[in-house]
Amino acid sequence: MKELCLRALDIAKEKGVSFADIRIVKHHTQIVTTEDERVSGIQDSESMGFGVRVLLNGCWGFAASKNLFRKEIEDVTLRAVEIARASSLAKMGSGVVFAPEEPHEAIFRTPVQKDPFKVPIEEKVNLLLGVNKEMLRVRGVKKAHSFMWFKSEERHLANTDGSFIESNTCTSTAECIATAVDEHTAKTRYFEAIPVNAGYEHIEGTPLLKEAQRVGEEAVAHLTAKECPQGKKDLILHPSHLALTIHESIGHALELDRVLGMEESLAGSSFATIDKLGKLKYGSPIVNIVCDNTDPTRLASKGYDDDGVPGQRWYIIKNGILVDYQTGREVCHTIGAEQSRGSCRADSWQSIPIIRQSNIGLEAGEEHLTLEELIADTKDGIYIEGMGSFSIDQKRLNFQFGGDCFWEIKNGKKTCMLKDVTYQAITTDFWGSCDAICDKRFWQPYGVLNCGKGDPMQIAQMTHGSSPVRFRNINVGGAKL
Ligand SMILES: [Zn+2]
Repeated sequence: MKELCLRALDIAKEKGVSFADIRIVKHHTQIVTTEDERVSGIQDSESMGFGVRVLLNGCWGFAASKNLFRKEIEDVTLRAVEIARASSLAKMGSGVVFAPEEPHEAIFRTPVQKDPFKVPIEEKVNLLLGVNKEMLRVRGVKKAHSFMWFKSEERHLANTDGSFIESNTCTSTAECIATAVDEHTAKTRYFEAIPVNAGYEHIEGTPLLKEAQRVGEEAVAHLTAKECPQGKKDLILHPSHLALTIHESIGHALELDRVLGMEESLAGSSFATIDKLGKLKYGSPIVNIVCDNTDPTRLASKGYDDDGVPGQRWYIIKNGILVDYQTGREVCHTIGAEQSRGSCRADSWQSIPIIRQSNIGLEAGEEHLTLEELIADTKDGIYIEGMGSFSIDQKRLNFQFGGDCFWEIKNGKKTCMLKDVTYQAITTDFWGSCDAICDKRFWQPYGVLNCGKGDPMQIAQMTHGSSPVRFRNINVGGAKL
């Protein structure tokens, strides 16, 4: 592999590029899905190829191929150079400024105890059908779905900095969904082996079978739940829910290419422009948002990003103030940073790296605080678990979120279940109303597998995390579902 990589870099250098890289990537994906008592799908696919990126006269050229032969690597590299040369005919300004980076030689691997691709399909199917059976045993549950999803990525990345990086990551998840139906409506409830970078041991370590009955019962209870009240309520959000709110209202808003207006496809631009850096009150003083691409179990971690920059841990919001962004080598100079934060990833060998969300979490509270204590301290509120619908404007400022399961809190007690709960807020008002965060014993990571960005669209994965959190006086209800 190294020899093939070096051949591409030598050709690019001969052509006078200021930077070049080559990524050889192999993906293996397996998805097993079941419905009630039957297997509804088994997909097992592999994709392997390479992409060459060059920077010439301040412009990018990129070309890719699935044919991993020396001659093809030479031809594809020359094609990338030609594309860069053609692009430079229409160069805007002085062209790309690409931040310097040290050379790195490294091997990074997700710690995997049990390779999920070596576990027999039969074993996976038996577990999923067993889970479905438990959910269907609950009176009122009419439909049971479940799936397992595994993805591995082997990557060889070499660039003209002198870096040669190998990474081997593996993501595992499973989920079950119960649907309860009565004469009026249908309601669902889900439970998951949270997507993490780990092997099949993660599935075995998650009590899918044990929780199936509760999942079914909560789907049924959801049918007769009380309507969502309207007005201002305190919200207590479980990490399984807050993950999506962090993703949409902070994660996307603080991708520097989006902030600069260089990338607006799918999720728009951002209100958090660079003139606000170091000044904007994004949240209350207890809101500390950390990016962490150093923990190998989280989905955005692969040792080094596709720009060849090491995974890092840094604050983007500190004591409620906007202090940094997620950056790549091409844009970090716009905020005066000399080096990238290492947030550039491509979703395959045939895609170019773009800025993607890191693993972004809300730091746990410093004071000793349990979820039960937080509920006991809340007079009139709603407790929300799980992800549901969401909607957010093109500046990431004005949003509405649903969820998966909701309970009313009255005078410090979790009382009845609610249905069709939605809440609406302005991003900075919402995070500004955060007044209590449970301590680190309750901090949980939640993986997101299907974040779309770019045109053509690329799909990325990342992990968000928090402890249970309270937000005061948030507008709830009023949405037509
Ligand atoms: Zn997203």
